[in-house]
Amino acid sequence: MYIEVLIEIKNKHVDKTFTYMVPSNLVMEIEIGKRVLVPFGHQTLEGYITNILPSSSIDSREILEVIDSEPVLTNEMLEIGVFLKEKTLSSLSACYSVMLPRALKAKKGTEIKKKLETYLVLMIPLEAALKKCKNESQRKVLELFFNRDKILKKEATIISSSVKTLIKNEILKEVFEEAYRYKIASHLKGELKKLTSLQQEAYQKIYQGFYKERVFLLHGVTGSGKTEIYFHLIKDCLNMGKSALVLVPEISITSQLVHRFSEIFPENIAVLHSNLSDGEKYDEWRKISRGEVNIVIGARSAIFAPLQNIGIIIMDEEHSDSYKQESNPKYHALDVAKKRSEIHHCPILLGSATPTLSSMARALKQVYTYVPLLERANGKVLPTCEIVDMTEEVAQRHPILSRELECRIIEKLNKKEQVLLLLNRRGHSTTITCSNCGFTYRCPHCDISLTYHKSSNTNRCHYCGYTVFKEETCPKCKEDSLNYYGLGTEKLEDYLNEIFPTAKIVRMDRDSTSNKGSYEKIIQDFSMHKYDIMLGTQMISKGLDFPLVSLVGILNADASLNIPEFKSNEKTFDLLCQASGRAGRKSTTGEVIIQTFYPNNFVLNCVKNQDYFKFYKFEMNIRKTLKYPPFYYLVHLSIKSKDYELAKMESLKIKKYLSSQIDSESIILGPTTANMFLVNKVYHFEILIKYRFDKKLLKVLKELDEQFLIYKNVTLDIEFEE
Ligand code: ADP
Ligand code: ZN
Repeated sequence: MYIEVLIEIKNKHVDKTFTYMVPSNLVMEIEIGKRVLVPFGHQTLEGYITNILPSSSIDSREILEVIDSEPVLTNEMLEIGVFLKEKTLSSLSACYSVMLPRALKAKKGTEIKKKLETYLVLMIPLEAALKKCKNESQRKVLELFFNRDKILKKEATIISSSVKTLIKNEILKEVFEEAYRYKIASHLKGELKKLTSLQQEAYQKIYQGFYKERVFLLHGVTGSGKTEIYFHLIKDCLNMGKSALVLVPEISITSQLVHRFSEIFPENIAVLHSNLSDGEKYDEWRKISRGEVNIVIGARSAIFAPLQNIGIIIMDEEHSDSYKQESNPKYHALDVAKKRSEIHHCPILLGSATPTLSSMARALKQVYTYVPLLERANGKVLPTCEIVDMTEEVAQRHPILSRELECRIIEKLNKKEQVLLLLNRRGHSTTITCSNCGFTYRCPHCDISLTYHKSSNTNRCHYCGYTVFKEETCPKCKEDSLNYYGLGTEKLEDYLNEIFPTAKIVRMDRDSTSNKGSYEKIIQDFSMHKYDIMLGTQMISKGLDFPLVSLVGILNADASLNIPEFKSNEKTFDLLCQASGRAGRKSTTGEVIIQTFYPNNFVLNCVKNQDYFKFYKFEMNIRKTLKYPPFYYLVHLSIKSKDYELAKMESLKIKKYLSSQIDSESIILGPTTANMFLVNKVYHFEILIKYRFDKKLLKVLKELDEQFLIYKNVTLDIEFEE
């Protein structure tokens, strides 16, 4: 017997299978999708079995070992891998690798042990055992067996120290069983709510789509009860004997949602997200592939969960950036979802208060089914929103909090309500400059200034992580005249503590939540009103449901408007709507204050009026005029090298080649230097292709990609966007 083995090697161009012979003692263990250990050159490597051949004309070496007892790649995953490779122009091995938890990747050093738990079982019937033992403390242990066959050893040793004796006397024996490391903490039990008539209508529409490969766009304003609709649909799925796959953007949204899910569907859920340890992820994965759970909730990569018989795929907050993977293979979870919906004949439900323009455009063209849910479930009105002109405030010496926002915060604090403040910039000060000689701290590897972080007393680059300790004097002129400008979350925290000395304040950003569990702790403490004000980056804007929050302040609305990217308006609109949606969700009426230097900005005024369709029309017009998605597809090519001249020269060559090859209707822009031109000492050039229908394009790009694999000093990255 011969097998084809796909081996993952760092060099992209070794993305092919190799034929190996199977020694007769291993033949019985061979199955497609399992991992094997093979000799490769002078090394021993892991690979996936992708094919079984009865014979081979090639003189092959023998495999050394079969690693798995069950295939780690199912047929479905093998198929999705091939699909991903085509879609993203990545290597097949990278595609399989991205689907699997670390413990199951075909890479050395990824072994993660199963956790074993020790149990006690009786070696003789309970009656006989009780007769034999007169000792009070030993009997206590035996009594645990009255209605159980096995007892956790830990449990028994807590109540009595006689366990050892019982084992020695051959009345009890130890057995070891695999255990799962992750447990959802919640013990509460929840019930499905009765849907409001508007929710019922939305639900019915989607319900009719079961068993069909249809995409539904649930456009539900914040607090409209999208999650309740998910619950009802999932319940239906379970009743049909099917499973449900639920994607959420990232941890910031998962923990509260997971609790809500586990209250409704206890025992039935596996959770997959980046905050789990490798061991926990491995365990969750096994629960799923053994069919022990039928609901999976997780972030982007959970789209690959080995669930069988899927009845619905839900993508909550479908507009979120986090559904797109930034590193290779640069896939979008929605593309994988569509593929799986084809395989399982099940619907996809996209939920959002601010759907992406592409999704809405598809819904309006009836490519997707549009399901509106434009009222809050509990009859609460959407928060009122006010725009404050910061030009005036700066003149009046209120550069951080406007007078208006400060007054409102005091008012809420007096009423014992809670406040959320959004400042999308971490660190303390964003620019460090010497007022004597003009020196500014910049990253030596990147084209950017360093940010001062007070908690670690360091100056850091937010791109490459370069870090130096804070200095008291200017490194250039040695004068004591360094100034710290620009507002980050740490400085805001200090400022708030100063002006609201009796308020309890908590900061949430990537730095304050880097320890495992710290994020959940902040959320929990805030919802128990241990804090009055929570300030933070966009982490606080999504999904969170705090009943006592009645005011949301957005400190620098302009920051995201000014990012040089065609989606900056859309992203700003999303971020601000999401953040506003945190206000007044339960008993109180919500208020939102947006601070800006551009009070007449159209996008901000759409946010103020919570008018999605006004924004949609405005932005679609711009996209049409400028030929951007959803009117045109985009391909970004990034050409990177440590050698500036080389990167530039290759970029020009690529442009020339593309121009000669692709459809004349397609537009090629560039090469230009990228927004972040220099990162980690590597220079970045960009070429942008806009196209509508271009049959030749994919083939041309593939060829180009292959040509570049042999270059050592320049890399080419190709990324699709729609
Ligand atoms: P969304 O996900 O659209 O932001 P949620 O599902 O979180 O909205 O619902 C917002 C709030 O309204 C939650 O506290 C939820 O429990 C409540 N809610 C939603 N639907 C109903 C309903 N049919 N009956 C009672 N309360 C509801
Ligand atoms: Zn840097």
